[in-house]
Amino acid sequence: MFIDSHAHLTGPDVIDHVEEMLQRAEQHDVKAIVNVCTDQASLDKGLALSKRHRWVFNAAAATPHDVSKIGESFFPIVARFAREGGLIAIGETGLDYHYEHSPKDLQKEHLLKYVELALETKLPLIFHCRDAFKDLEDLTKGAGFSAVLHCFTGTLEEAKVCLERGWMISMSGIVTFKNSASLRDIAKYVPLDRLLIETDTPYLAPLSKRGKMNEPGYVIETAALLAGLKGISTQELGLITARNAAQLFSFPKHIIDV
Ligand SMILES: [Zn+2]
Repeated sequence: MFIDSHAHLTGPDVIDHVEEMLQRAEQHDVKAIVNVCTDQASLDKGLALSKRHRWVFNAAAATPHDVSKIGESFFPIVARFAREGGLIAIGETGLDYHYEHSPKDLQKEHLLKYVELALETKLPLIFHCRDAFKDLEDLTKGAGFSAVLHCFTGTLEEAKVCLERGWMISMSGIVTFKNSASLRDIAKYVPLDRLLIETDTPYLAPLSKRGKMNEPGYVIETAALLAGLKGISTQELGLITARNAAQLFSFPKHIIDV
């Protein structure tokens, strides 16, 4: 079994294909998907989707890119659903200084608000971080939440900080790309019980599907690559990362009994 720990199923490009995607994911033994909602429209659709498919779970937050546009308006909606039980995680939130679509100070402000919400609701956080690790590390120091750094593309030193903090590290299709040798070294280093796998659908399709719209079923390719690095079978890698995800996101027992 496999769990796609990070996909955007209810954004405008994907929603029209979602039913076929979910069918194919089921055929590939994907047992749960974390659907990451980044605005009110994708959250509304996500909540409806998870009612139809009891193996799709929703996380929500404004991304660091969008906080200047929707940060203020979306936060209270996320807070309401986080408190009322509609979400299994808060995110993706974090810092992105690579694109810097929103001012750094505003990104930091929202990151801290979402951290506070996670502490209040005891939900895990899904972090997005690009070229901003030092600030993420400093701003979240000492806070007692659980978290995953999604689509990890950082350095070994950064991975070590995540591990020290008790965070999970999630590998996307990027780890299958030809020029990702250093990321593969980091994946080898990360202990199996701290590893998650994700597609980040519709982005970042793995090597054999590059250029196509990504989808949850393609998580198998990332699993197979990581299994090779770890010297275990793809099935084993799938099961271990599924257990890790179930532990972090507290999936109900009908998904996986850990
Ligand atoms: Zn994402």
